[in-house]
Amino acid sequence: MTNNSPPATRLPEDRTAIVTGAASERGIGRAAAHRLASAGWAVAVIDLDETKPSDIAAEITRRYGSPARGYGLDVTDGRRSLEVVARICEDLPQLVGIVNNAGISSPTPFLEVTYEEWCRVIEVNLHGAFHLTQAAARVMAENRIGRIINIASASAQRGGGVYGRAAYSASKAALLGFTRTLARELGPYGITSNAVSPGSIDTDIMGGRLSDDRIAELLRELPVGRIGTVDDVAGVISFLLGQDGSYLTGVTYDVNGGSHIA
Ligand code: NAD
Repeated sequence: MTNNSPPATRLPEDRTAIVTGAASERGIGRAAAHRLASAGWAVAVIDLDETKPSDIAAEITRRYGSPARGYGLDVTDGRRSLEVVARICEDLPQLVGIVNNAGISSPTPFLEVTYEEWCRVIEVNLHGAFHLTQAAARVMAENRIGRIINIASASAQRGGGVYGRAAYSASKAALLGFTRTLARELGPYGITSNAVSPGSIDTDIMGGRLSDDRIAELLRELPVGRIGTVDDVAGVISFLLGQDGSYLTGVTYDVNGGSHIA
C-alpha cells in the first residue's frame, strides 16, 4: 500500500461496480446491474460463461449509455479472479463497488447432504466472495474509497426453513461475519462493507418459477402480503453503493417483507 492520504468522502463521478452472478435472466444480479447503470455507474457484469454477461453489458450500454463489460468467471477460481479484476481496472473507470451476488442454493436436508455438496456451496457462496473482494479491496484501499456488498439470505438468520438448508445457511451466515469484519478492517481506507439479506424473492434459484401452492405457503409468513421482486433488492443495493450510503457500514439490510423481524 503506497497511498497514505485520508479516505475520500465523495464518490468519483466516473466509477465502476462489479456485480457477480449478474447474467441470470430473472435474477437479482441482473436487476442490480441495471439499477446501478441507471444511477450512473459503469458496470462489470460477471457470470460463469462469457457470452451472457457480454450480452447483458451490451444491453446496459444501449439502454443507459453507461460503460459496461461482461466477464466470464467462476468466482471459486482465485487466480482468474485476480486477472479479471486487473482487466476491469483497465477496461472501465475507477473500481469503487463490488456486489458479491453469485450464489447457489442447497435444498438437501442435513442428514442427506454429502460433503461434496456442502463444500461446493461454501466454495461458491463464501470463498467466491473472498477471492474477488480481496482483489477488489486492494484497489479500493489504494484509491481510498470503496463499497462492498455481500448478498446473504434470511436463511442465515432464520435457520433455513424456506428453501436453503444447512450448507446454504452456514455459507450465508459466514458472509455476515465476513461483512462486519471488513467494515472494521477496511473502514480506515474509506471502504464500507454491508450485507443485504433477502427473503423469498421470485427468481430461478429455487428451481424455476414458484408454483401457486408454494406462493400461498410463503405468503402465510409474509406480513407485507407479497413475494419480493428483484427490484426490491436492487434498489437497496443501489442505495448502499451510492453517496447516501456513505455512513453505513457493518450493517445487514433485511429485504424480506417481514418474514424475519429481528
Ligand atoms: P439466480 O440463480 O437467478 O442467480 C445466481 C447467479 O449466480 C446465476 O447467474 C449463476 O450463473 C451465478 N453463479 C452461480 N455460481 C457461480 C460461480 N461459481 N461463479 C460465477 N457465477 C455463479 O439466483 P438469485 O435468486 O438471483 O440469487 C442471487 C443471490 O441472492 C444469491 O447469492 C442468492 O443466494 C441470494 N438470495 C436469493 C434469494 C431468493 O429468494 N431468490 C433469497 C436470499 C438470497
